[in-house]
Amino acid sequence: MTWQQTTPKAPVHHRPQGFLNGTRSEPLLTLSDGVDRLGMVSQRARLQLVSQLETANIGHSTVWQAMRAVPRHLFVDTAFASRAYEDTVLPIGFGQTISQPSVVARMLALACGASSKQGAWLEIGTGCGYQTALMAHCTQQVCSVERIEGLAELARVNLRHLGLNNLALLHGDGTKNWKSQYQSSHGRFQIAQFDAIVVAAAGLGNVAAWLDQLAIGGRLIAPVQGEDGVQRLHLSERRSATHIDHHVLEPVQFVPLLQGRTHLLP
Ligand code: SAH
Repeated sequence: MTWQQTTPKAPVHHRPQGFLNGTRSEPLLTLSDGVDRLGMVSQRARLQLVSQLETANIGHSTVWQAMRAVPRHLFVDTAFASRAYEDTVLPIGFGQTISQPSVVARMLALACGASSKQGAWLEIGTGCGYQTALMAHCTQQVCSVERIEGLAELARVNLRHLGLNNLALLHGDGTKNWKSQYQSSHGRFQIAQFDAIVVAAAGLGNVAAWLDQLAIGGRLIAPVQGEDGVQRLHLSERRSATHIDHHVLEPVQFVPLLQGRTHLLP
C-alpha cells in the first residue's frame, strides 16, 4: 500500500499528453493568450450536461456545483475527450471505465445526505480520479483506494493539476479495512470512520470492512450484484453502533469489484 497526499499546485490549462495504455496522442488543449479553445467548448458542454441532470433532478445542488467545476474531459484519453460530456461510460485503460455522470451524480447525492461539507468520505475504486475530484468538492476530506497501480498513478497525475488539497490516494485493495492505516498519523488524515463510503465497482454483497468503517449517521453507497445477476445500487445507513438500515435501489452497471491489488502499469 502507498499513501499519497496530493499537494496543492497552481492550476494549469493543459494535461499531460496521452496516457491510455501507454499510447501517446495529440495535446488536448491549445494555449492561446491563456485561453484554451477546447476548454471553452468543453465548459459549455459541461454546463449543458449539468443542467440536464438538474432538469431530471438527478443529483443534489452540491454535486451539480462540483460537476460544473470539475472538467471531465481532462480525465479521459484525448481520443474520447469530445465525448466527455455525454452521459456515458468511457474507457480509461486496464479494462476499466469512467463512471456515467448521471450515476455518479445519483451516488454522490446519496452521500450528501450523510453530511454537508463536514465529513470524511471514502471512495473504493479511484479509476481515473474524476469522481474523486467531485467528492473533494462535496466534502471536507476524501480518501480514495484503487487496486490497479497504473490507475492509481493516472488519478494522481490527473488530480495534481486541479490543486485539491483535501484528498489522499491509496494503492491497495479497498475491500480491506483501512482503519489502522488512517489512524497511523498520515498528515491530517487521521480518520477512523467515514461519513460516506462510495463504491465504484460491483461486488456480490456488502463488504464487512465497509460497514465497520461507517460512522454513526454514515452512508454506504455500493452497486451489488444480486442472485438474478442484476446489479442494483444498495444504500446502507448506520443508525447506531449495532443497527444498520439497508435499502435496495435502482439497477446499475459497474465493472466488477475484485480482490487484491495489482502492480499493472501502462
Ligand atoms: N470512479 C471511477 C470508476 C472507475 S471503475 C472513475 O470515475 O474513473 C471502478 C474502479 O474500481 C476500477 O478502477 C477498478 O480497478 C477499481 N476496483 C475494483 N475492485 C477494487 C478493489 N477491491 N479495491 C480498489 N479498487 C477496486
